[in-house]
Amino acid sequence: MIGHLTPSDIAAASWHVGLPSGDPQRRLWGVDTGAAAEEILSRSHHVVQIHGRTVLAADEISGKTEADGIFTTIPDTVVAVKTADCLPLLFSAKAGKPLAMAIHAGWRGFCAGIIQEGVRQATSAGAKMSSMRVTIGPAICAHHFEIGPEVVAALVAHSGENAAMNFLSKGKGDRWHADLQTAAVIDLIGLGFNPADIEVIRLCTFEAKLPSYRRDGKGCGRLVSWVRCVDPVADKSARSPAT
Ligand SMILES: [Zn+2]
Repeated sequence: MIGHLTPSDIAAASWHVGLPSGDPQRRLWGVDTGAAAEEILSRSHHVVQIHGRTVLAADEISGKTEADGIFTTIPDTVVAVKTADCLPLLFSAKAGKPLAMAIHAGWRGFCAGIIQEGVRQATSAGAKMSSMRVTIGPAICAHHFEIGPEVVAALVAHSGENAAMNFLSKGKGDRWHADLQTAAVIDLIGLGFNPADIEVIRLCTFEAKLPSYRRDGKGCGRLVSWVRCVDPVADKSARSPAT
């Protein structure tokens, strides 16, 4: 899919090794577990996630709608996704039309093109590519995300062999490891995102004692990643990340 990407393009994204601090009252987005996660869910739009590529407007969904992404252009609306190793992607607007979009992407959704679909939906709702910013939240790291040849094949089919070399590494026997955060950064740059508008929280769910399906299986809980829609013109917090 991407022929012109260089490792320095990827490095130009902003990589944090922990959650950036900020005034919790003014946060644009956040990740929560336990009681705080339940509280966020009680006042956010969220969906029943099925590892697909459907992204819907917040006003089109109920609590029982099946999808893996939600967006809104209505200020103060909160959209959220639940993960336990998969990628949460949180989009907002730094200028122009208000936007909040939350996407859940495991390898299936990623390979199905949910990032492309989300960006398509956001732009058709009036958001400009050059005005969008995205935060990729905590997810399982490559070391802990061991995959087999069939998943490798799906990732290569989606990203292309050259791009996939930036996020796939060989493991033991026929096992491989995939860094889905980097894979998502490559997709976003391929879509036209400026690397400076991509922020990656480099926390591994498996290691950081966040909900991790690979570590704890069913009953591991859920990480809730949310983003609040703000009007960038009215709210200057929209212009600086995580404040
Ligand atoms: Zn890890």
